Amino acid sequence: MGVIRRGGSFVLKVNPILCDGFGHCHELAPDLVDIDEWGYPIIKKEPTPTGNVQALQSARYAVRGCPRQALRIERIADQP
Ligand code: SF4
Repeated sequence: MGVIRRGGSFVLKVNPILCDGFGHCHELAPDLVDIDEWGYPIIKKEPTPTGNVQALQSARYAVRGCPRQALRIERIADQP
């Protein structure tokens, strides 16, 4: 049984060396990733609350769907 953590926020991070610019991440998480004119991702910089389950799910899809494993989710803890 897993623990559900709803606090904090997250951002997507891309490794630009691995990224090949096919833009699958934009298709899978359009609210979090835009693409430039060459198809490379422009990641939303503002943290998204982890409680936004739909956004977190699409971020996970984008991470899993990245053919170059260039994406990761970086969690940001709430400030005390
Ligand atoms: S899916 Fe991965 S390789 Fe493709 S553009 Fe996005 S980060 Fe780059």
